[in-house]
Amino acid sequence: MRIDVVSIFPEYLAPLELSLIGKARQDGLLDLRVHDLRDFTTDRHRTVDDTPYGGGAGMVMKPEPWAQALTAVAAEGSGDAAGAGDSGDARKPVLIVPSPAGERFTQATAHQLAEEDQLVFACGRYEGIDERVLEWAADHFTVRPMSLGDYVLNGGEVAVLAMVEAIGRLLPGVVGNPESLVEESHSDGLLEYPVYTKPSSWRDRDVPAVLLSGNHGKIAQWRRHEQYRRTAERRPDLLAGFDAGTLPRADRTAF
Ligand code: SAM
Repeated sequence: MRIDVVSIFPEYLAPLELSLIGKARQDGLLDLRVHDLRDFTTDRHRTVDDTPYGGGAGMVMKPEPWAQALTAVAAEGSGDAAGAGDSGDARKPVLIVPSPAGERFTQATAHQLAEEDQLVFACGRYEGIDERVLEWAADHFTVRPMSLGDYVLNGGEVAVLAMVEAIGRLLPGVVGNPESLVEESHSDGLLEYPVYTKPSSWRDRDVPAVLLSGNHGKIAQWRRHEQYRRTAERRPDLLAGFDAGTLPRADRTAF
């Protein structure tokens, strides 16, 4: 997969050189490039913002640097695909525009996006990007304004760090043991069960006895019950669309 991130603070994306995502880049599983939006300006001050039409507080990101930057990364991406001898599949790259006014980014979105060939992230700052950029970009990209949650950040970079990590770890070979992706929170509609490691007794607190029993059937049942209990306690909203038939019998009655 190829990922391009455009930002006025490219150094903000440095953590993507670390840990599993950094290793995936080194291993050639992920081609991730960060671009400075100011490199696509033409004036001496490398200006990327201006005052909003209609008045109001704050500044708005100017459209032309974005059009230049996005045109360049789309061309680079399609050049790579052609160079790699691809079958000529003309799938548009996906342009993700982080925004508190976007659709909610979820684990399901991460799975969907992990199937794409190229993702481009456009990090807004100030009051956001001139809306016409999103309209124009629809000719060249599948445009998806995407929110990390119902709160407001200063810029898109933190949202991109989170989204790239969530998507990147789903790419084949990035997480050493793919089994660990199966039983995670949000993989089947419930939160994950509690986990423990050695010692079995710590500061007067014991690991639940069933986990030491060696009885795999009982352990699986306990874990399923704990998933349900934890979800009901912390995120009851998730239970609304959940198929209760997959739960231990005692938990089903609660539906
Ligand atoms: N005026 C905008 C609004 O109210 O919708 C908020 C602009 S915010 C200060 C600046 C930038 O931070 C946004 O353009 C976006 O890139 C990013 N951002 C802020 N909150 C976000 C969120 N919850 N999810 C994703 N990106 C966010």
